[in-house]
Parts: sequence; structure tokens; C-alpha cells
Amino acid sequence: MDKNIPYKIYLGEEELPRQWYNVRADMKIKPAPLLNPATKQPVTLEEMSKIFCTELARQELDNENAYIDIPAEILDFYKMYRPAPLVRAYFLEKALDTPAKIYYKFEGNNTSGSHKLNSAIAQAYYAKKQGLKGVTTETGAGQWGTALSMACSYFGLDCKVYMVKVSYEQKPFRREVMRTYGADVTPSPSDTTKVGREILKKFPGTTGSLGCAISEAVEKAVTSEGYRYVLGSVLSQVLLHQSVIGLEAMAACDKFDIKPDIIIGCAGGGSNLGGLISPFMGRKLRGEADYRFIAVEPASCPSLTRGRYAYDFCDTGMVCPLSKMYTLGSSFIPSANHAGGLRYHGMSSVLSELYDEGLIEARSVEQTSVFEAATQFARIEGTLPAPESSHAIRAAIDEALKCKETGEEKTILFGLTGTGYFDMTAYQKFNDGNMSDYIPTDDELEKSLSQLPDIN
Ligand SMILES: *Cc1c(COP(=O)(O)O)cnc(C)c1O
Repeated sequence: MDKNIPYKIYLGEEELPRQWYNVRADMKIKPAPLLNPATKQPVTLEEMSKIFCTELARQELDNENAYIDIPAEILDFYKMYRPAPLVRAYFLEKALDTPAKIYYKFEGNNTSGSHKLNSAIAQAYYAKKQGLKGVTTETGAGQWGTALSMACSYFGLDCKVYMVKVSYEQKPFRREVMRTYGADVTPSPSDTTKVGREILKKFPGTTGSLGCAISEAVEKAVTSEGYRYVLGSVLSQVLLHQSVIGLEAMAACDKFDIKPDIIIGCAGGGSNLGGLISPFMGRKLRGEADYRFIAVEPASCPSLTRGRYAYDFCDTGMVCPLSKMYTLGSSFIPSANHAGGLRYHGMSSVLSELYDEGLIEARSVEQTSVFEAATQFARIEGTLPAPESSHAIRAAIDEALKCKETGEEKTILFGLTGTGYFDMTAYQKFNDGNMSDYIPTDDELEKSLSQLPDIN
């Protein structure tokens, strides 16, 4: 071990970022505006405020302010589990016999087990401040619902979660954590909403999808007095809150004179990757430094690498604003054998624009190779990673192995977004040798892509 760099770099509480960083302020080409699905015109603050908390809608539309103060109440909550450590993966480096230096930012140090709490607490705070009774949301694998349940119980808000049915059945413990924090959890599609009943009628026996659960949660919010809808990823406000990851990582790097060459994150809706890279991207956009950024997505849900950059619905029920993003089409549902998370059909409009401009690279990886990397990491570095995070581990290991071939001493930083304790059915599948890879054919993708709304 390098005696100048500890295994775990912990910043002090006083070094917690006091402001979030909004990368949109430094982007020359701004992400395309969200459109009202009825009028196809850019959504106004007033329209957005019917679905979202007003302050969050304001953040969603803010392309100008680079720094936004983190309210003191949120900072206090952050202190329960932040700053999160930046870890030098010395053991992994040694096992791979690579000259590369590998660091990871670990976001699994809280009960929800992932980075999602960073935005959940912010969204719950603004809902409370607005005097709302509660919020509705969807959850896929369950991490977002868990994080939001924790945040809502902290501020005394009601929390209604629509959980994708397949996860509801496969992850009973996630469900119980949410209920323990006081949330009301419904498997989606359900008969508690109009859109849910329609989807059930059209696709009997469906195991659900994120897009469908979003539609249900939005409907519930707009038809219940004193409720708004909150979303755990994809939206620009979520990337803003998640910038706390990147700001801390950058402060830790600067403190120890660590200069990452490659920054890697897994990409579902893009919030952890966006949060991790935002401040570094800011430096790149301002010409102060250069980095390679790599988004890693599942081969079975490849929105960046095989999707189209177009306006699309964020949800199956087509009630949310339209977003211009890399998308597989809102009716896309990953194959049933997919166990690694990151199942959303689209990508953050911020990351989509940065990717379209060539400022970010993207690659897709197959799930067996992801679980190989996860297992290798767990055995060497000790932490059992979430399957989602393991997409980033896969790419980090691959980049480190490339350095071994070329002899380059690159510095690699990746986001370890969470722990895998609640994902043991997926690990079981892998351990039993029952996990297979599935890559959708072009024809299959064309089926959902051909249903993209005709706007541009
Ligand atoms: C939700 C989640 C992700 C993916 O979501 P993003 O918005 O793309 O960050 C990644 N890792 C973990 C552990 C998650 O819970």
C-alpha cells in the first residue's frame, strides 16, 4: 500500500459539500426541454407543479444556476451517513496485477443500501416544506422505494410505493423494509389505478415494468389531495442531488492529489453516474481538466448503446412529460431472465445530451460477466456489491486489465452504488449456474422503437 494514500479516505463532517452542483449550467448545448404530452410544448413550472413539488419542478427547469444551496435540514440528515468513503481498491489492484490505480466511491453505507437516499431525503424535504401530506412513487428493484420510505418517515410524510410486481414477489425483504419505515407498498400493475387496470386488461399476467409503475404512481398523486409524485432517477433534479457523490469524490481526490483518468459508473436512469461525474464534467466543459467517462449498461437493456436519441414517454401510460433521451421505447421490457437491475427504457436527458456530443462513452455488458466481476470483487475487496454497481466493477476491472497489457498506470475511479444484500436471488441464480445472457435482437428493439412518438 502507498503510505500517502489510506485504504479508505474519509472526509470530515465539516467537509460535506454545502451546495449541489448543476452541470447543466456549464453545458453549451442544454438538454432538450421536457414537453407536455398533451400540447407537445415545453412544460411550464405551473404544469409541472401539478405533478411534482414546486421547488423540485423549479430545480428541474433550472439550466442556469451552477450551485444550489443544500438546505440545513438535508445537510443534517446527510451527516447520518455521509461523507461516504473513497476507497483505494489496493487488494483488487494486487489481485489483477495491474499498474492501474483503482478507486471507488462507496454509497452503500446506509440502511437503504444505495445512493438513492441522497435524492430521496431532498425530495421528501421539499414535499414537507410545501405542506404536503405525502408522496407517491414507483420502485423497481426496491432501492428507491426503501430510500424514500426512510426519508418520508424522517419528515413524517405518507409514502405510497408502486413496486414492479416481479420484484414485489422476488424481493419480500425489500418490501418489508419499506413497510417497517411506514410506507404503503402495492405491486404494479394493480387495480388501484385506471392505468393499472388498463395494462392488466391488455397484458394479463404481466410481471410489470418501471414505466408502468410510474404511470400508476403519477395517477395516484394527481388524483389524491395533498400528494405529489417523486421519481428516483432520470430527472435532472435527481442528478443535481446526486452531485453530492461527485463533489465529495472530487474533494477527496483533490485532498490527496489523485487525478482520475477514467471515471466509470453503471447507468440505469443515469442518476448515480450523472452525480458522480457532474463536477468532473464541469471541469472538462470549462477546459480545466480532461477525463474519460464511461457509462456501463446491461446488454439486455442497452438504451445508450442501441437506443435512439428522440423524444419519448418516461412511462408506459404516457402521462409524464416527454423527454428527449436515448431510449429503447417506453413499451420496452427487458427479458424476464434479466437479474442485474438497470431496467429502465430511457436515460437522463443530461447524460443523453453529453453522450450525443461524445463527452461520455458507453458500453454494454452481459449479466454473467457482471456477476463474475461482482463475485471477484466480493472475494477480494470484502464488500458484497449490488448487481447494478457490478456493471461498473466489470468495466473498471476490464480497464485495469487493459492497463496491465499496455503497462499504463492509469487512475480509475468508479461508483460503487450499493450493497447486494437484498439481491441474493440473483446471486443464487448465478451460483447455481442458472444465469444466462440475453441480448435483444434488432427486430425486438424495433418493435418498441417504432412506437416512439412522432416529434422532432
Ligand atoms: C437504482 C440503482 C442504480 C441505477 O440507477 P441510476 O439512476 O442509473 O443511478 C445503480 N445502483 C444501485 C445500487 C441502485 O440502487
